[in-house]
Amino acid sequence: MLDVSKIRADFPILSRQVNNKPLVYFDNAATSQTPEVVIDTIVDYYSNYNANIHRGVHTLSQEATDKYEIARQKIQAHFNAKFSHEIIFTSGTTHSINLVANGFSALLKAGDEIIVSALEHHSNIVPWQMLCERTGAILKVIPMNQEGELIMETYDKLLSNKTKLVFVNHISNALGTINPIEYIIEKAHAVGAAVLIDGAQSCPHIKPDVQALDVDFYVASAHKVCGPTGVGMLYGKEAWLNKLPPYQGGGEMIAEVSFEKTTYADLPHKFEAGTPNICGGIAFGAALDYMNAIGFDNIATYENELLAYATEKLSTIEGLKIYGTAKHKTSVISFNLEGIHPYDVGTILDKLGIAVRTGHHCAQPIMDFFCIPGTIRASFAFYNTKEEIDILVAGVKKAKMMLS
Ligand SMILES: *Cc1c(COP(=O)(O)O)cnc(C)c1O
Repeated sequence: MLDVSKIRADFPILSRQVNNKPLVYFDNAATSQTPEVVIDTIVDYYSNYNANIHRGVHTLSQEATDKYEIARQKIQAHFNAKFSHEIIFTSGTTHSINLVANGFSALLKAGDEIIVSALEHHSNIVPWQMLCERTGAILKVIPMNQEGELIMETYDKLLSNKTKLVFVNHISNALGTINPIEYIIEKAHAVGAAVLIDGAQSCPHIKPDVQALDVDFYVASAHKVCGPTGVGMLYGKEAWLNKLPPYQGGGEMIAEVSFEKTTYADLPHKFEAGTPNICGGIAFGAALDYMNAIGFDNIATYENELLAYATEKLSTIEGLKIYGTAKHKTSVISFNLEGIHPYDVGTILDKLGIAVRTGHHCAQPIMDFFCIPGTIRASFAFYNTKEEIDILVAGVKKAKMMLS
């Protein structure tokens, strides 16, 4: 079981006030908060061994290089990748997806098909549309039902030997739906298609095993798992990463350069042009250590309790509708109050010190499906409490009274 008050003490920000009220932070699906150990890691880096990596023979550079490569190995172990060079450091999920989408421009031809899901984040739609424009490939979409679950019967029908790539998020950031990625991967492989899974929203709740999943690419951002912003990862099977051309040219990604011809460095450096977010990568490793010490099973059990509690309490409010009622979902609740704009509710909640997200959550097609401009989204992490949910419920009731 989690000792939540002890955990809360690890997060300095959780003891601050917002508008003279204790902060209630329920915007974890957008970014998680940062524990002291991760902050200390960042301070330690800039205080003691800030230097560029893989270049200098001097001590600071070697220390920074060692710590950066150890962080890569921590990420490898966390995701159970076979090799550490299958882990590419990126600036985040968006960068990782663009890296793969760009690489596939060289591998696709007109008439090939890419399948995405109706539950995607904009960062998962736009790069594929750009890829289709460049190559003449065709984008197909797995639809969802009223509960916010993907319809697998339609997916089965969309698959054919024209399908080259399937792209789905593991968990939807807008609705919290956990998608059946094992099934999606198996079926895609049966027609010879590669699969890229967006794990940005699952990694805070689940520890994925890329080898057991047999997934071709898996991507995530550090800032959603208690790490800093501006750093993330791409896992790719070695064979796929060797096949994809580099994304950006620059220092660090080359073996030899002349004006006639450049040969690229081996993995992972082929995809890591320029000076990376060194400190961020090291802090990403520290964040995973922190979460693993708490334990992802403990985290999931506790967050499911919070989800059930919040769903029950919010459902008692008349005129409140929850969007996304999938059988399998994580601790995200998207809702609206009848006849009231989500933004107005969010503004009142902020006055009460409660941070929620309002809007389309970078998932406009989902909002169009439900014919709404957006939702109020409360997303819970392992450092939240039932008392905070009570404060949210009271705040929503107050907002409803003031606005109707
Ligand atoms: C947050 C998120 C992204 C984008 O992550 P960045 O860190 O902003 O690149 C992509 N997909 C999902 C499902 C997300 O939740």
